[in-house]
Amino acid sequence: MIIIKTPDEIEKIKAACAITAEIFAVIKPWIKPGISTWDLDQIVYETIVKHGARPSFLHYGDPPFPASACISINDEVVHGIPRKDRILRDGDIVSVDVGSYLDGFHSDAARTFLCGNVDPAVEKLVRVTEESFWIGIAQAQQGKRIGDISHAIQTHCESQGFGIVKELSGHGVGRDLHEDPEILNYGHAGKGPRLQAGMVIAVEPMVTLGSPHIVLEDDDWTIVTRDGQAAAHYENTVVIREDGPEILTCLERTRP
Ligand code: MG
Repeated sequence: MIIIKTPDEIEKIKAACAITAEIFAVIKPWIKPGISTWDLDQIVYETIVKHGARPSFLHYGDPPFPASACISINDEVVHGIPRKDRILRDGDIVSVDVGSYLDGFHSDAARTFLCGNVDPAVEKLVRVTEESFWIGIAQAQQGKRIGDISHAIQTHCESQGFGIVKELSGHGVGRDLHEDPEILNYGHAGKGPRLQAGMVIAVEPMVTLGSPHIVLEDDDWTIVTRDGQAAAHYENTVVIREDGPEILTCLERTRP
C-alpha cells in the first residue's frame, strides 16, 4: 500500500533528509587513499547523532546490519559492511549509502565518490549513474507512472553501454525505511502505479560496467558483481509535489 504523506509528515521527512544530505558534504573530503571504511562510518555516525537523529541502517534487517552506512567499493554494488581493515586505495570508487531517522521518519540516499585517480571508463560509469537518476526523476510528475521513471533510467544507462542491476530497486520512504511502491531501474513507460502529490520515494539506480548479474557474499550483506567489474550507485529521497518532484537529500540541487 502506498502511503500518501501529509504536509506535516513531509516536513518531518525533510528534516531527516537534511541530515542525510549534510553527511555527503562532511564525508567527501575524507574519501582519500589510506582511510578505512570503518573510519568513514564513524564520521557518518557522529554527523547523524549530533542532530539528535539515529542511523536508519544500524541494526536493520537480519542479520542486523552492524554499521551506520553501507560502504561499497569497486565491484561491491551495495550493502558493503564498514571494516577497520578495509582501506581505500587510489583509483577506487566508493559508494556511501546512508539513512537518518528523526522524529518518526526515515531518509535514504547514496553517492559514489571517486578516490584519487579513477580509470576513465569507471569515472564515466559513476557519472552516467548519477545522470540516470536525474533523467529518471524528471519523469516523477503527478499523473505519470512509476514505470516512466524506471524506463528513463534504463534507457539512459543502457544507451551508454552499462548494465542495470535488476534484483534491487528503489522504494517508498516514510515511517518505514522501505515502503511501497517498489521502483525498479528498468521497465516499461506508462506501467505501474500512478504518481501523486504526497508520495515520498527513494530512487536509486545501481549500474554496472560489465554484466548486471550480482552475487551475495558470505557476510550475508555485501552484494558484488558476478564478473568482478565495477558498479556505481546514486540515490535520493524525493517528494512528489503538485508542480513536480522535489529532491530532499541533495544540497546542490532540489529540482530535476
Ligand atoms: Mg534505498
